[in-house]
Amino acid sequence: MKEIIAGIESYKMKKLQVDTDDPTTLKNILCREFGLEPELTTIKQLENKKKIVIPPQEKDASNLFDIYTEQIEGLQETDRGKNFEYFVLDYFWARELLIYGESFKKIRELNVLMVGAGALGNEMAKNLALSGIGAMTIVDRDIIENPNLSKSIFFRKSDINSPKAQVLAEQIQKLVPTIRADYFIGDITEEYVRCTQCGTVFELDEITCPSCGQLFNLLENHERVFSFLNFLDYDLIISCVDNFSTREYLTRRCLEFDIPYFDVGISGKRYDDPIEGNYVQVRNILSPEDPCIGCLLSEDQIELFRNPKYGADPCGMVERDPSNLNLMSIAASIQSEQILNFVTGTGSVLTSLFINTTTNRYLVDSVTRNTECLICSSICKPEIKHVESMEKAETMAKGEFIRINNRISFANEDGSRIIIEVSENGNSES
Ligand SMILES: [Zn+2]
Ligand SMILES: [Zn+2]
Repeated sequence: MKEIIAGIESYKMKKLQVDTDDPTTLKNILCREFGLEPELTTIKQLENKKKIVIPPQEKDASNLFDIYTEQIEGLQETDRGKNFEYFVLDYFWARELLIYGESFKKIRELNVLMVGAGALGNEMAKNLALSGIGAMTIVDRDIIENPNLSKSIFFRKSDINSPKAQVLAEQIQKLVPTIRADYFIGDITEEYVRCTQCGTVFELDEITCPSCGQLFNLLENHERVFSFLNFLDYDLIISCVDNFSTREYLTRRCLEFDIPYFDVGISGKRYDDPIEGNYVQVRNILSPEDPCIGCLLSEDQIELFRNPKYGADPCGMVERDPSNLNLMSIAASIQSEQILNFVTGTGSVLTSLFINTTTNRYLVDSVTRNTECLICSSICKPEIKHVESMEKAETMAKGEFIRINNRISFANEDGSRIIIEVSENGNSES
């Protein structure tokens, strides 16, 4: 056994007893002691002051000793005059620990659903993954096209025609190996099933499997793989999409299930447009009082946005949105910082912000929920129950029910929905 001093500089140094000289074993012991992932940590022994000497008890050295004892846990009066080997753990998130302290654990445990893997999704995924979140599921139905490359840090020319969600998830996994980056290729507003004969995943409203032709029968030969019930798996949901309909859908689901929702709208100025500007508009819903994307819009405006001019016309002409990377990275930086504030409780969280980068107008609104809002005023919350076994859940279900993973959902007599969640050590109620 020898006594050493080790830790993360400016965060936590400790006097410790170890019984090894092997660098790898020592690193693993120290990582366990400080709660760090060994694969994200390097260890160095200070070369020029391989040993530090705690000042002996002398009048002029007593202040220095106080400084040491403040900064190094476990030092005692009896350590005066001793030599210690000094090891520094260079942790991947050593500087972030200085911001969030113990709350950094909450970032490491965060599991998010990110909808949209375009330019904004690339920036958001990069920020959140490098900030240390634990898991991310990325949903997008589109493939990568050439104009995406100018705005997307993770897409290369060789990725053209590959699914955005898959390429982004794979690149994020490479960037931060400790994250769980998952993806789903499809439209978040649809429900998906998997054919048990050939494994193909397809939309619930198709009649036969598009791959092997097996006739659709949900109870017998298909299983649900993605449905709105999956939303309940996540700590929060982030919209990185460019269309109002999907944002409206996500807003409704998050309000229904009380899931924190981070929404941002982005618009670029057309070169021939004399008035409008480039803007970023944040509408985050963290409590039932927060306004949604529809709260400031009239019925006519909502109708207009729901049926955008951007859809394909019969000749295949598509109206494209003007955009550039700056707007995307401003939006992603603001949103990822809000998410970290929210999760760690280390700062306030914006619910409403408007930025016009053409006129350089920055406005934090104090918008409140509109009780007449076409989108959020009529949302009906389901009743969520918890039981300890799927068997019990199924006996409680009345009539036809949807099952996905550990949840079933069915309609009540009055039309409201009931969701039953099975949790193994279930705090059971019925
Ligand atoms: Zn099939
Ligand atoms: Zn609203």
